[in-house]
Amino acid sequence: MRIAAAVSLALLVASPALAADRSGEGEADFRALFKELIETNTAHSVGSCTAAADNIATRLKAAGFKDSEIHLFAPDTAPKDGGLVAVLPGWDPNAKGILLLAHLDVVEARREDWTRDPFTLIEENGQFYGRGVADDKGQAAIFADLLIRYRRQGYVPRRPVKLALTCGEETDGVFNGAKWLSETHKDWIDADFAINEDAYGVLDDHGNRVSFEIEAAQKVYQDFTLETTNPGGHSSRPRPDNALYEMAKALDRVEAYRFPVKVNDATRGYFARMSPIIGGADGQAMKAFAAAPGAGAAAETLSRDPAWNAMLRTTCVATMIEGGHAPNALPQSVKANVNCRIFPGTPVAEVEQALTTAIGDPGVKIGLGSEPSPATPAPALPPDLLKPLEGVVAEVFPGTPVVPTMEVGASDGIYTTAVGIPTYGFYGFFETPDEGNIHGLNEHVGVKDLMDGRRLFYKLIKLYADRK
Ligand SMILES: [Zn+2]
Repeated sequence: MRIAAAVSLALLVASPALAADRSGEGEADFRALFKELIETNTAHSVGSCTAAADNIATRLKAAGFKDSEIHLFAPDTAPKDGGLVAVLPGWDPNAKGILLLAHLDVVEARREDWTRDPFTLIEENGQFYGRGVADDKGQAAIFADLLIRYRRQGYVPRRPVKLALTCGEETDGVFNGAKWLSETHKDWIDADFAINEDAYGVLDDHGNRVSFEIEAAQKVYQDFTLETTNPGGHSSRPRPDNALYEMAKALDRVEAYRFPVKVNDATRGYFARMSPIIGGADGQAMKAFAAAPGAGAAAETLSRDPAWNAMLRTTCVATMIEGGHAPNALPQSVKANVNCRIFPGTPVAEVEQALTTAIGDPGVKIGLGSEPSPATPAPALPPDLLKPLEGVVAEVFPGTPVVPTMEVGASDGIYTTAVGIPTYGFYGFFETPDEGNIHGLNEHVGVKDLMDGRRLFYKLIKLYADRK
């Protein structure tokens, strides 16, 4: 009995390793879905996200998804800006879901500018070329394919796995599906947390894997306008006050002002994990800052690097100026734009007040230059989220450290995070140092990189979906 028990225990222990790794199965179906998605133009000018969403709904239904598990939506005012939400239900009625969020729309691309047709999926020298292969149709295809595979394989997770594919991420001022879902149909997408685009695995110039980044915070974009005015007059008789000089002094003070050092899980984690990778004095400063975040010698050292400085604090910088109306006249009006990237959780009003105090001149009128975004603090990055990711990264990309990060741009994650669905961003695949030229010409992603990302998500989402 003792021996038998020992043998079966050994078998039990061994069985997970012996179980077939199914993470790479169904590649032909994935490629077909990906090709169809890339070749469905979804750029705002002439494309249709609605058509892309319809195609994916057809594939989901063919895999066994019921009509009741799929919501297709499109606004009356913009019928081509539609999207879809699909749900793979979980068995535990008390477990909240996981949301997989990706955008279907792409940045405009003109055939004459590209080496190859941007709306034909082309595989060449180990790369996929096409608009959206990296941003964000690679991820959208991985997520849709994931639900299809899970359903075909009869997998029933503990938690519902929800998929939202939306339009409007790349173009300002158009219907944004993620914003609309967050504000009007939160019940469709509500989840414990969401995974969205943005951070990626970093490759060096030689193709070696440096780190696997997970975005756990986003800075908030905000423009401010500064304006000085003056009665003006003839330039042959200068008066002591002058709108251009007044603006120059104000901008000098904006340049000199430094916002206070702040920290969150993302930036603390970033400096802690990057410290051994960077090494030297900078690595030491990162280690010291992560151990005791705040103003001090370590923060001073890190502030010298523009990228690290941007992770330590709110930054504001002059980006545009216009003023004066004639070479021989005293300027009557000068306007400047100051672009700020606000540390998450800091109210816009607080930044405006800091600028007002720093400038210290009531003659300089300060106003908002862009629509303010919600001042949502960055979500925490708890171990039960990070550990499974680290486990799967160790399996798929051995030896690669997982590094939390804060993005200085913004994605649709700001809308879902703002309504209480903490959203983390990673594409799941690695990018060359040119970031796959996303938004630019000849956008590309490595074929193997994309397939590895597909394997990573297959394993990872199961771990998340089955956790208690
Ligand atoms: Zn994107």
